[in-house]
Amino acid sequence: MKIVDLQVIPFQVPRRGFHHGEILPETMVTQTVTKIVTDQGAEGYYFGGRGHGDMDGMSAEQIGAMQGRIKNLVLGHDPFDREKFWHWLWVAKVDENLLSVLDMALWDLQARTFRVPVYKLLGGCRDKVKAYASTFPNMGSVEDYAEHAAACKAEGYTHYKIHPYYFWDPIKKESDPGRPSHVEQDIEVCRAVRQRVGNDMVLSFDPWGTYCTYEEAIKVGRVLQELNFYWYEHPMPEYRVSSYEKLCAELEIPILSPEVAAGSFFTRADWILRGASDMSRIDVLRGGITGCKKMAAVCEAYGVKCEIHMSGFANLQILGATSEDTCEYYERGLVAPGMDCNTPPPYLEEIGDPLDVEGYVHLPQEPGMGYKINWDYIGDNTT
Ligand SMILES: [Mg+2]
Repeated sequence: MKIVDLQVIPFQVPRRGFHHGEILPETMVTQTVTKIVTDQGAEGYYFGGRGHGDMDGMSAEQIGAMQGRIKNLVLGHDPFDREKFWHWLWVAKVDENLLSVLDMALWDLQARTFRVPVYKLLGGCRDKVKAYASTFPNMGSVEDYAEHAAACKAEGYTHYKIHPYYFWDPIKKESDPGRPSHVEQDIEVCRAVRQRVGNDMVLSFDPWGTYCTYEEAIKVGRVLQELNFYWYEHPMPEYRVSSYEKLCAELEIPILSPEVAAGSFFTRADWILRGASDMSRIDVLRGGITGCKKMAAVCEAYGVKCEIHMSGFANLQILGATSEDTCEYYERGLVAPGMDCNTPPPYLEEIGDPLDVEGYVHLPQEPGMGYKINWDYIGDNTT
């Protein structure tokens, strides 16, 4: 089998955003589907490729790179040679997310060809995964967070992750430049949520690297320990690794990082060796499914958790092919009161991650990544 074409199709979808405590009016945004075509009729697809999860379409420049340099590299080659392409693109210093999109479209293609879900092709390990509700930042007042955590618990979630206040002043209720941090209000949120949901819900906390001083990071970390939070995620900027070494040595609560550092599993393996992360973190746009599988193996060897970042079909497929002892949770959301994550976008017939009453999401059983694609919608809304 040979690759004969690689296309990126941009199309418009309605999106309802959430910003600084408010649901925004619906706007049209660009989504992309990357499509790989072979001489034997087999095809593979990947949605998104920019930003978080798989909801954000690639930019015009990124589409140009996919349909130029990357297409030229793979045309005429066997679509099952993912590992070869992965090394080629890594050596060529192609952007990690573009390398990842190619890798995932090829995993989809081979799994569709073999008529199995991607996680079964990888080696199935489980058909359902524990999920946590991951909040939008600046979700509202302290009371809003506590109420929402209780509502999530009632819905079935067993784990709630707080993104607290950043780039927004919760006192003045207006945007700010991210400095100073709102450490006192963040702590109030954590105390209120723990008090509301009790001790039988797992809680974790992620200020998204916005604590720019070690002093802020450790102050909050000590409170999280006292409140029995499970992990403390990405507290500081990730370009100061020695601050993380110090924080890991000082605190007992596991530090979960790096999240956004470039370098796929290479960087993350180094953080583990340096004692800069107690739990590691990666997602499918940082090396594709191939990169995540390598990272999960590194973590398994060291006995370190590999928590997969963000929602999406491909992240869920990784979880289906790994043990809960290594990759424990699926990040569902982002969630906020009034934000719907149970209705599929119009280009899909079904969501990939329905939540059951016990707080698990179940792996889609369709061949490939699990998409049920509405090609009519895509055709009607192509830009
Ligand atoms: Mg995070």
